[in-house]
Amino acid sequence: MWPNFWLMKKVLVANRGEIALRIMRSLKEMGIQTVAVYSEADRMAPHVLYADEAVCLGPAPSNQSYLLGDKIISVCKDLGVDGIHPGYGFLSENADFAKSVFESGIEFIGPSPLAIELMGDKLTAKDTVKGYDIPMVPGTDSAIDDIEVAKSLAQEIGFPILIKASAGGGGKGMRIVESADVFEEQMKLAVSEAVSAFGNGAVFIEKYIASPRHIEIQVLADKHGNVVHLFERECSIQRRHQKVIEEAPSSVLTDELRAEMGLCAVNVALSCNYVGAGTVEFLLDENMNFYFLEMNTRLQVEHPVTEMITGVDLVKQQILVARGEKLSFNQDDLKISGHALEVRVYAEDAKNNFLPDIGVLSSYKRPVGIGVRVDDGFEEGMEIPIYYDPMISKLITYGKDRSESIEIMKRAISDYQIAGIQTTLEFGAFVMGHESFISGNFDTHFVKKYFDPSFLKSDNSNEQMIAAWYAARFFNEKEADFDR
Ligand code: ADP
Ligand code: ADP
Ligand code: MG
Repeated sequence: MWPNFWLMKKVLVANRGEIALRIMRSLKEMGIQTVAVYSEADRMAPHVLYADEAVCLGPAPSNQSYLLGDKIISVCKDLGVDGIHPGYGFLSENADFAKSVFESGIEFIGPSPLAIELMGDKLTAKDTVKGYDIPMVPGTDSAIDDIEVAKSLAQEIGFPILIKASAGGGGKGMRIVESADVFEEQMKLAVSEAVSAFGNGAVFIEKYIASPRHIEIQVLADKHGNVVHLFERECSIQRRHQKVIEEAPSSVLTDELRAEMGLCAVNVALSCNYVGAGTVEFLLDENMNFYFLEMNTRLQVEHPVTEMITGVDLVKQQILVARGEKLSFNQDDLKISGHALEVRVYAEDAKNNFLPDIGVLSSYKRPVGIGVRVDDGFEEGMEIPIYYDPMISKLITYGKDRSESIEIMKRAISDYQIAGIQTTLEFGAFVMGHESFISGNFDTHFVKKYFDPSFLKSDNSNEQMIAAWYAARFFNEKEADFDR
């Protein structure tokens, strides 16, 4: 196959905020025209102003704008767009959308619809990687339909166990069950939650790994069967099973374990004929055993830490691969250099259970200087819309080693000036100064074990505003769910 160099003269970015901007920067460097889409709430958003062309999709709720796949495809036809980059969230893991894009003769910058479908469901994913020698968390490998059978299996595995929604994502759809006597009621709750949140009641059981680290491997595959991994990211600092701080490399992997997990990740990619950039997530237990969790078939929020330590621009690679080019490097060409950290700056109040905060960025000054990268999508004076993910920015630092990267992060956090909204920045500073984090001795329970809101300065947060935010967001999510 000849590389389609004539392809991708113009790419539409079907996303908003920091990730839309980040993607467009790489497109510009490659001499590709950029098209932004936006909702009425985002008229003046930086991603709209930055693009060569921009088209309004509709009202603020995502199911009336960013989730309108057919409308996005017709915009592409009108404007002569030849590729769509979906970013993360929204339509990025929607196999039907990817299929419609392909059928319209537009390149979907991501894997095949089949790969998205196979990896988008946790049970199907486990089934797909069978035969590839991938270690799994002990548990059931099909949806539970008989509660008694499931209960005795749970007893065999040993409590506590985790009930998980097969279609779950974003840290949602998980329930810990401590003992057999509450198993049945928890099961019923889990199923009804899975139906209402994901429109799919399939749930399964996993052993609850007591003290795990979340370690994921970045993979990259071209259309010619070449697959490499770009090492790991450690994402164990989480709240609500969602990542807040990530780093690369992990401070606990040996070269041997890194190679072993990397090989597994490559095999997961091979199992579904993966194309493009993807992430294979694992849990690592106290005895350094690792287990496959899931594969995310898109560019990941925390991809910059991998870019910093490898020098590879993952978005450019996605475009090259989509154009049909062969990877220009192999596994042996890839090396880890230095250490990168990322703090996700969410509009959330860490003192108040990380509840989302709302308001206007009355003051917004980014940190600058050696080793500092800020991927954001806001300017001073802007309001954080209630309709979308409350992430304001990603603060990324890079140093020659972990301790230098931590020192730069501490300085960058203190230079970052955000007023008008509560953010996770101060929480980031707390983590950077905590001895468990500094020593590298931590797991996914870091927040529960060590974080006490009293460590942070107090403030006067407006609880009514937060309640209103929640009501609106809940409404919006419900609407969006019907669209998925
Ligand atoms: P990452 O590891 O890249 O942070 P996340 O699981 O946190 O991945 O999800 C990234 C984005 O995708 C977030 O904006 C999140 O809200 C969204 N997302 C992921 N899964 C789902 C889902 N099942 N339903 C709705 N949004 C989701
Ligand atoms: P999601 O699709 O929501 O990202 P994951 O399966 O990737 O779901 O799990 C998200 C997080 O939940 C993990 O990073 C980890 O903190 C926790 N988790 C998931 N499965 C287990 C398990 N079997 N034991 C302990 N923690 C788990
Ligand atoms: Mg996950």
